Amino acid sequence: MDNREMFESLGIKPEVYDLCEKELQTLSDRFKEIDEIAEYNQLKVIKAMQDAQVSEAHLYGTTGYGYDDIGRDALEKVYANLFGTEDALVRSQIICGTHALAIALYANTRPGDEILCPVGKPYDTLEEVIGIRPSVGSLAEYGVTYRQVDLFPDSTFDYDGIRAAINERTKLVEIQRSKGYATRNTFSPEEIGELIGFIKSIKPDVICMVDNCYGEFVDREEPTAYGADIVVGSLIKNPGGGLAPIGGYIAGRKDCIERCAVRLTSPGLGKEVGPSLDTNKSFYQGLFLAPTITAGAEKGAIFAAKVFEHLGFSCHPTADQKRHDIIQAITLGSEEAVVAFAQGIQAAAPVDSFVTPYPDDMPGYDSKVIMAAGAFVQGSSIELSADGPIKPPYNIYFQGGLTWYHAKLGIMMAVEKMYEKGLIKI
Ligand SMILES: *Cc1c(COP(=O)(O)O)cnc(C)c1O
Repeated sequence: MDNREMFESLGIKPEVYDLCEKELQTLSDRFKEIDEIAEYNQLKVIKAMQDAQVSEAHLYGTTGYGYDDIGRDALEKVYANLFGTEDALVRSQIICGTHALAIALYANTRPGDEILCPVGKPYDTLEEVIGIRPSVGSLAEYGVTYRQVDLFPDSTFDYDGIRAAINERTKLVEIQRSKGYATRNTFSPEEIGELIGFIKSIKPDVICMVDNCYGEFVDREEPTAYGADIVVGSLIKNPGGGLAPIGGYIAGRKDCIERCAVRLTSPGLGKEVGPSLDTNKSFYQGLFLAPTITAGAEKGAIFAAKVFEHLGFSCHPTADQKRHDIIQAITLGSEEAVVAFAQGIQAAAPVDSFVTPYPDDMPGYDSKVIMAAGAFVQGSSIELSADGPIKPPYNIYFQGGLTWYHAKLGIMMAVEKMYEKGLIKI
């Protein structure tokens, strides 16, 4: 059997395969650039582990209080080194990205303070954390207020609006690197650096925090190299390399991280407690694999953009644009197309491929959402996955793939399902 026949045996029609392969032929230069960045980041990770003198003993964990968990403590040094920060909190007790972001926000604000989002609405799940949508336990209930300055339609910063929004109560600025569920551009670390420079020129002591979810290892440097005080992310996205079964990280200034640690555990306990249980090995090994896994996911995203642009859909970013995260948004224009795409991704999965996803309500989201994932780790979106909020303009957000070949199959299967439903012509 050749590769074409192998794809056919998995349900890909020859005309779908030929179309996709033809588009793929045009991407070799892009893929080469991605491999160069992956190589750079791979070396950066190895150096950080060597500098922290990671040894076999660090791969084992502790239980109970987790005092003297040397693996956990060394891993936090590795993260701090990688992000070029004074300190880091990398914990299995942080459930997900939203939890990590919530810790950082609650830890670094006090009643009467104000949070500013200078790049438009934050990620959907943060709306309830901040209290943009009223929610029990939100920051709004604690008297922390919120202000937002939207981007201009071309995704550039509204500097005058931001200057006007900064006031004596502005304590923390939240900057989301990735587009999330929006169709703006994802910001490069350099662009984030320009924004931070502007904000600090007006109010030097404001804490600039970057939601770094999905951005890790896509560029050579992270936002902390450009002035961010704190970066926050999820270990079931890029930096967990597909192996971390849970977890989040916060890297940044020592005082900010200390406040996060006492918020996560308790005043007086801080970083000293928190058993790693059996997670240390997967956190180290996942981090070690993360640069190449991120690269594979990026290749999948670019390939998807190329194929779907060819089919006449608008893609964010476009297939040719420089990327700063692993998310690919495709405007599919109808609920049927979003559902068919997601069902294609599901059908290509190694786990639960026989399950058919349908749109449903999800905690934290304000519309029905369809989610496709056949993942080894529940909800892991560094694994091949697609999410589509069922609301106009009917975008699908596609990301991940622990190997490029799996991402490729998933995209072909998404095209196949749309083709079978008569939603596209080839
Ligand atoms: C995924 C994501 C989050 C939230 O992470 P969860 O792990 O799903 O809680 C926050 N911000 C951005 C930009 C994300 O992509």
